[in-house]
Amino acid sequence: MLIDGRSIPDGERVETDLCIVGCGPAGITVAREVASAGVRVTVLESGGRGQDPSVDRQGAGESVGHPYVGMERTRARGIGGTSLHWKLDAPGDEDWIARPLDPIDFEARPGVDGSGWPVDAATMEPYYRRAHEIGRLGPFAYQPADWPAEPDPPFDLPASEVVTNVVQRVAHTFAEHEHELTTSNAIAVVHHATVLRLASDGTRVTAAEATSQDGRKFTVVARRFVLATGGIENPRLLLLSRRTGDGVGLGNEHDLVGRYFMERLSARAGVLVPARPDLISQAGLYRSHLVDGTRIQGVLTLAPDVVRREGLRNAMFWVRERPRMITSPGVGSLLSMYRLIRRRPFQPGVVPGHVMRIARNLPDVTRTFLHYALRQPESAFEVFQLGVQAEQAPNRDSRVTLGRRRDVHGLPVARLDWRPAEADRESIARSVELLDGSLRHAGVGRVIHKIGSESPRPLFTGNWHHMGTTRMDPDPSRGVVDAACRVHSTANLYVAGSSVFPTAGYANPTLTIVALALRLADELRAGNWGDAA
Ligand SMILES: Cc1cc2nc3c(=O)[nH]c(=O)nc-3n(C[C@H](O)[C@H](O)[C@H](O)COP(=O)(O)OP(=O)(O)OC[C@H]3O[C@@H](n4cnc5c(N)ncnc54)[C@H](O)[C@@H]3O)c2cc1C
Repeated sequence: MLIDGRSIPDGERVETDLCIVGCGPAGITVAREVASAGVRVTVLESGGRGQDPSVDRQGAGESVGHPYVGMERTRARGIGGTSLHWKLDAPGDEDWIARPLDPIDFEARPGVDGSGWPVDAATMEPYYRRAHEIGRLGPFAYQPADWPAEPDPPFDLPASEVVTNVVQRVAHTFAEHEHELTTSNAIAVVHHATVLRLASDGTRVTAAEATSQDGRKFTVVARRFVLATGGIENPRLLLLSRRTGDGVGLGNEHDLVGRYFMERLSARAGVLVPARPDLISQAGLYRSHLVDGTRIQGVLTLAPDVVRREGLRNAMFWVRERPRMITSPGVGSLLSMYRLIRRRPFQPGVVPGHVMRIARNLPDVTRTFLHYALRQPESAFEVFQLGVQAEQAPNRDSRVTLGRRRDVHGLPVARLDWRPAEADRESIARSVELLDGSLRHAGVGRVIHKIGSESPRPLFTGNWHHMGTTRMDPDPSRGVVDAACRVHSTANLYVAGSSVFPTAGYANPTLTIVALALRLADELRAGNWGDAA
């Protein structure tokens, strides 16, 4: 059933068994799975059908830490959630990138996170496989050897040092599940229904207090609640849901809600100059391409034993063939400047350094500019630009809190204080050093313009992956949710989404979000609904 929140009378009280807040990949997955067990599900979604920039603007916030783009551009509101953004990328790039976390990502890793995940890779694998069906992905296959029809081999590198892994890409958004959801007798999707707060009696959530876009208010009373509003709104809504009496936000008894915010650290990491020119034409595995009907792409990573031994954050490297001029440090500085202008807070201190570097590399910068401005035919590729997509280690001071500004409903917006640490940057620099050493020894090539101690530094951008803000840990003093994703202090409240990730790995998060949502759905299905409302 599909209901427009604007048609619900002011003051209405809706009763259901399970109330899910948010209709993105996480909420959709929980809804379809739990409803298949006959449980009545109501999904409250702030946006409408499809994307509406005026609704997305409700996701605007304040950025006070590492420069970040307007938060409303990093998430979308509507049935399908932020996956609605996936279609807005450049034509030909409108697919989503998927890969499970590596087994090492679940481990306790000194220097990254002492506790690790309360689940391991083997436990997650069946859920990942099921997530593949929902995400319309190809076979659960992430090593080059899994793709015998692949024409180009990976670079010939010692597997004990550097590994080629595979990501999958698929043109699909979770909005495509709308029909399936809304034709289910057990599911009511209410769009234009923004939850303002979760009311609780101290131990249980009693109701979700919601409003339609036109200001009418209604409540949803349920046996259980799942918060699935994304990695920034999940903590914001918990903080907004202060308990009467002590004023503590839901689940925030240990001041953990919103802390440990992690993004993906992305930047140009170096330029791989191949030892032989023919390596460029033989590197097809590292391009996005179809094999047996599935779009795949190879990436380079350090071997897990190297990551463990060196105490590194995990990272992957995109290997993009490029004309040499485009990889010049001057062009990198131009890109950093462009990105800085679009991010807040603005960092004027680094501008002179970037301008100097652009000036020193003016011929390359000019040629690159003309190349794109005049839409010249693609120059011959000579080198590979290495792009890093790295893990940020959990940092207690990197956090989401409530801001000073108010949203259209009069509530404080999210305030993001993103704090990548110096150790995160050092880990990437060390990873590039090790990668360079292995590439040289194997006779593949050498890395120049390595990310490291250069000044000014390239700007780390995020990938719009919002993680860690309601972290999962069996110990309530270290995590907001337990291993079953239930809020420690609130018996009937669960959290779905990347906010529960204790650590981030390097893989894009949605496959793991959906796998965890399936695990949560199994937990909920197995629960006793006999006393359902
Ligand atoms: C441009 C872009 C490209 C991306 N590409 C990839 C990719 O290739 N691979 C990948 O794995 N990830 C990618 N991501 C990240 C991915 O989109 C998110 O990780 C994923 O959508 C998160 O799913 P979710 O269900 O947890 O949250 P969301 O998808 O953010 O859904 C949350 C939903 O909750 C709703 N909501 C929020 N607050 C309220 C409220 N108070 N009341 C009611 N409803 C509310 C929102 O309207 C939204 O619909 C990309 C993100 C962006 C921005």
